[in-house]
Amino acid sequence: MAHPSIDVDLQAEGKNFGNIWVSDVTNESAEGKAATPVVVIKNGDGPTALLLGGIHGDEYVGQLALTTLVQSIKASDINGRLIFVPASNVYASLVGTRLSPLDGQNMNIAFPGKNIGSVTDRICNIIETALIPECDFIIDIHSGGRSLEYIPAPLVPLSKNKELDEKSLRLAEAFGTKYVYVIDDNGQTTASAGHRNKKPVIATEIGGGELASLECVTIAHQGIQNILALSGIVQKKVEAALSPQKLFFGSNAFLRAPSDGVFLPRHKLGQEIHKGELAGHLMWPHEPDRLAQELVYPDNGILVCRRPINRVRKGDCILHLGFPV
Ligand SMILES: [Zn+2]
Repeated sequence: MAHPSIDVDLQAEGKNFGNIWVSDVTNESAEGKAATPVVVIKNGDGPTALLLGGIHGDEYVGQLALTTLVQSIKASDINGRLIFVPASNVYASLVGTRLSPLDGQNMNIAFPGKNIGSVTDRICNIIETALIPECDFIIDIHSGGRSLEYIPAPLVPLSKNKELDEKSLRLAEAFGTKYVYVIDDNGQTTASAGHRNKKPVIATEIGGGELASLECVTIAHQGIQNILALSGIVQKKVEAALSPQKLFFGSNAFLRAPSDGVFLPRHKLGQEIHKGELAGHLMWPHEPDRLAQELVYPDNGILVCRRPINRVRKGDCILHLGFPV
């Protein structure tokens, strides 16, 4: 066993199901444990991919794409090993929330975690210290969540290790979308955990809002298959490499609500935007005599993400841009 808290043999051939078990003592459950499902499919000596979904529990695109892959891939279909954690933040997935309902944490900024800590801390620590060292690369599927909607694309957090970043970018280019998002590694994500282990990592942002559409789940499914084909784990015709446009998310890419209200956006995702251009109006339908406030874009760029909910609270991200690099 790779870790005393993981009850599936990571080295066993075939398709095997188990859990990561961590302490979850509550008023109703002395000595209780929380279970996070893990699936391992192994055949032969090819490379290992770690496939994560549901780091944010309300992002179902990755959870559905990975569950489909778990059920459709036979061990004999692959050369190597696939380690799946389809619903990494499984208790958030069960109730459709971004954050863990057990400890209120955002799993995406909880790495490297702690071996003595909250449920989220412990799961992150086991992923970083027991699963990531086993793999050759990591795919972590995100999809905006309830309050953000993205143009589907892989996302590469840059480690500043040029060789590692080049490997991650090659995986992202194989994903097969028009854009590849790039950001700076903030030290707290699955990508940071991968970088600390010198592993290439891609995350994604594939759609968002309340519904994981078939279109978005298919994009995730095909993108993962393309990367697995590139690595030689699955046999699949590798499409001619695209040259996706790289878009960087800088701190000045975000437009946040200056006050509570109801926002009416003016543009669709994918549109080219100019600094100072009207982004939309903030209004107060319960105060019809209060004049609408014009909100403008903070910079030039491509509109890659917007909030699919009209009502905003002061400080909410209404939209953000990607800057071509
Ligand atoms: Zn996410």
